[in-house]
Amino acid sequence: MTLLVVGSVALDSVFTPFGQTADALGGSAVHFSVAASLLHPVRVVGVIGNDFPVDQLDRLTLRGIDWSGVERVEGESFRWKGKYSYDLQSRETLETRLGVFANFQPRLPAGAEEAKFVFLGNIDPELQLGVLDQVKAPTLVACDTMNYWIQSRREPLLKLLSRVDLLMVNDAEAREFSGDWNIHRAGRWLLERGPRRVVIKQGEYGALLIEKDRTFAIPAYPLEEVFDPTGAGDAFAGGFMGYLARNGVADTDAMRRAMVYGSTMGSYAVSGFDIQGFEGVALHDVVERVQLFEDLTRIPAAERIQ
Ligand code: AMP
Repeated sequence: MTLLVVGSVALDSVFTPFGQTADALGGSAVHFSVAASLLHPVRVVGVIGNDFPVDQLDRLTLRGIDWSGVERVEGESFRWKGKYSYDLQSRETLETRLGVFANFQPRLPAGAEEAKFVFLGNIDPELQLGVLDQVKAPTLVACDTMNYWIQSRREPLLKLLSRVDLLMVNDAEAREFSGDWNIHRAGRWLLERGPRRVVIKQGEYGALLIEKDRTFAIPAYPLEEVFDPTGAGDAFAGGFMGYLARNGVADTDAMRRAMVYGSTMGSYAVSGFDIQGFEGVALHDVVERVQLFEDLTRIPAAERIQ
C-alpha cells in the first residue's frame, strides 16, 4: 500500500519563546514523511532550489524515506518565516517565499501513480490538483491547506475539496475558510464542499474527526515541555495516514484509531525544532505512547443512570 505525499520542502526560520532557527529543514512534506515513516514507507514529491543544503535531506534517507520524487531545479528554495506567541497558541507568518514552487509542475516518479494512500500536503492547490490528476485509483486521498492558500487560491481550493475524501486543517483554517467561528458548523460547511470526513486539529486541545452524523474527539498528549509547534499538523497527518496505509484500511473505526497515531506524532513534533523532536524515536516508543492514550481517554464503566 504505497503512501505518497506532495508538499513543501522548505527552509524555515522560526521564532518561539524558547529559541529560534534559521533556514532549518522544514516544509509540510518533510514533517509529514518523518512521522509517517515510523509506521509505513513513504514517497515524497516536491521541489527544492539549487541553494538547498542537500545533506539535510540525508536525514530523511536515514529514515528510509524515498525522496527521489523531489526535483532539484535552478532557483531559490521555498522559505517560510514564522513567529509564535508566548503561549505557543498562535503564530504569525512573517514571510513566505515560494521560490521554485512558483513554477513547479509536479511529475510523479515511476510507480507513484499506483499509490493507494495519497496526502496532498500544504502547497498551492493547483499543484495538489496536478498530483491528484496523475494518481490512478487511490483508496484514500486527503489534503491539507493553510491561510495563505485560503486567501490567495480559494477557487482551486474549492475544486480540490470536491475531489478529496478527507480534509485536514487546523481550527483557525477551518474558521477562515468557512467564515464561521463555530468549529462544528465550520466542519459541516467543509463537509458540504465535498469530502466525506474532515479532521480539525486544535493544537494542545487535540483534534476532531467530523463526519455527517458523528464526531470523534482525541486529546493532545499531555506534554510538560513544548519547544516548537511548527510541523505538528503535518506530523499529525503523517501519523494518521501512515497508520491507515500500514493497515490498508480507511473506514471510520480505522480513522478513529488513526487519530491516536496522529496525536502521538504531533506530540513528538512539538518537542524540538525542525525534525529534532523525532530524534531517537522508534516504533516501540510510538506504540507505548499510543497505549497511554487508552488511559487518558478511557471512561470507566458504571451503572447507567436511569
Ligand atoms: P504546520 O505547523 O503543520 O502547519 O506546518 C508548518 C510547515 O508548513 C513549515 O515547515 C513551513 O515550511 C510550511 N509552510 C508554511 N507556509 C506554507 C505555504 N504557504 N505553503 C506550503 N507550506 C508552507
